[in-house]
Amino acid sequence: MTQRVLITGGAGFIGSHLAETLLDAGLQVAVLDDLSTGRFENIAHLTGHPNFSFAIDSITNAIVLDRLASESDAIIHLAAAVGVKLVVEQPVHTIETNIMGAEAVLKAAARYRAKVIIASTSEVYGKGAHVPFREDDDVVLGPTSRTRWAYAASKMVDEFLALAYHQKYDLPVVIARLFNTVGPRQTGRYGMVVPRFVRQALAGEPITVYGDGSQSRCFCDVSDTVRALKALLSHEEAVGKVFNVGSTEEVAILELAQRIKALTGSDSSIRFVPYAEAYAPGFEDMQRRVPDTTRIQSVTGWRPRYDLDAILQRVIVWLKRR
Ligand code: UDP
Repeated sequence: MTQRVLITGGAGFIGSHLAETLLDAGLQVAVLDDLSTGRFENIAHLTGHPNFSFAIDSITNAIVLDRLASESDAIIHLAAAVGVKLVVEQPVHTIETNIMGAEAVLKAAARYRAKVIIASTSEVYGKGAHVPFREDDDVVLGPTSRTRWAYAASKMVDEFLALAYHQKYDLPVVIARLFNTVGPRQTGRYGMVVPRFVRQALAGEPITVYGDGSQSRCFCDVSDTVRALKALLSHEEAVGKVFNVGSTEEVAILELAQRIKALTGSDSSIRFVPYAEAYAPGFEDMQRRVPDTTRIQSVTGWRPRYDLDAILQRVIVWLKRR
């Protein structure tokens, strides 16, 4: 049974919510985070908790990772280079962090037979046009000359490696392909659309819709995502498999901007920004991204609880307070 969990990237947006949830469930939680995109303030309120500990360091510090892995029954690997903006602007950092990070975590886990949950991403579906995406669908990525796809490819390598450790060493691994996740503590600094639009709406600044806004996404509340990760951790049947984790409520980005405007009562204008201006060269956007969540539902019974308006309200309340 899982009692002690190590969360890499635990000071990040999703990781900090996960740490809270696992502590509430009575587990011991250790966080390893180098605070590159995570923030200490996300976990500051947990530091006095008797079952909580943290180490501010990189997952590439083998000594620290080894010690933490030796004290854990499970590792939830969230540490990664995230955010389209960061990924496009810092391709070397992205590829190295994602591939070497997962490799280090799997090696350390195998040493102590800790269960591993690898957080992957819906990016691995690449340019797939046939929605909803199913875990066993074929994958079509863009060319290597377009930096965006480096992120997808690096996370695919993580998935391959994790499944290989399972196959070869019988290491219990689970892969969670996270679709767009939003909620309190997410920052818009790395490109994420919901906190950006809400901040712009609250400040009365133009809301920046990239392209024509017809591209769509499904946004899942972070507390639902965290419940899914917890469910995947505790269901033995999940081991060795890949799972989509996300909402299936699809919204076009222009409509998202309009909803946020209405919910905040903002008189911000909507400004259409051409992709070439929004991102560095080498960027391609995905038109639609919808998960098929049949698999996680049938294995764990999980389904999201928050609908889009409730999710947006939570983000609005949080950003207003800041
Ligand atoms: N987007 C936008 N304006 C922004 C930031 C993002 O229109 O200020 C769009 C972006 O082009 C994409 C969608 O919102 O189509 C979701 O972007 P995000 O970076 O949040 O996630 P991802 O692209 O990884 O789904």
